[in-house]
Amino acid sequence: MDIRIGYGFDSHAFKAGVPLKIGGLTIDHPEGLAGHSDGDVLLHALTDALLGAVSAGDIGSFFPPGDPRWKDADSSIFLNLAMEEIQNAGFHIVNVDTTLVLNAPRIGPISGEMRERVADLLGILPANVGIKAKTPEGLNADHVAQAHAVVLLERVDDTDSLQTMNAVIESQRQLEDVVRDLVSQVHGVSVKTPFDTEDIT
Ligand code: MG
Repeated sequence: MDIRIGYGFDSHAFKAGVPLKIGGLTIDHPEGLAGHSDGDVLLHALTDALLGAVSAGDIGSFFPPGDPRWKDADSSIFLNLAMEEIQNAGFHIVNVDTTLVLNAPRIGPISGEMRERVADLLGILPANVGIKAKTPEGLNADHVAQAHAVVLLERVDDTDSLQTMNAVIESQRQLEDVVRDLVSQVHGVSVKTPFDTEDIT
């Protein structure tokens, strides 16, 4: 079994006057997270975890913070690129686990909704997404949101897709046989497969 682990971390300071987005959710709160993009600390950590798992660099190497194209960008764009990178490398996500560290708002009441949203963005089941939250006890980081994320990837099994392809080809052959029998019944003649190599030789 070819598996990979990836880890990502991110932090953003709270800032008045911007919407708060965490895990793809817009959360009702007096302050949002400062950042060049929408500041979604959790999606940034997940993006880095995915990129790291396939040694594809980090979020900054794909999306430089000064680039005006990513000003106020929806962070699901970054996550989608990381998902393309792992697909190109031949892997898919088994599960992800995350921990948010922030004083407010309380994540517990919305963690289920956040789990569903992150699962949706990653194209996996909510059962394969962990969302946990802690307050920054003793960290002197009361006005900051931090996110840690780990991902587990598994190489896509080529034999599975090959078997599926063979099954499709076999069912097409069976269908052709049925059609040929029907046609020959109607016309009372046998219909031969075009380009039958045995006829040529
Ligand atoms: Mg960030």
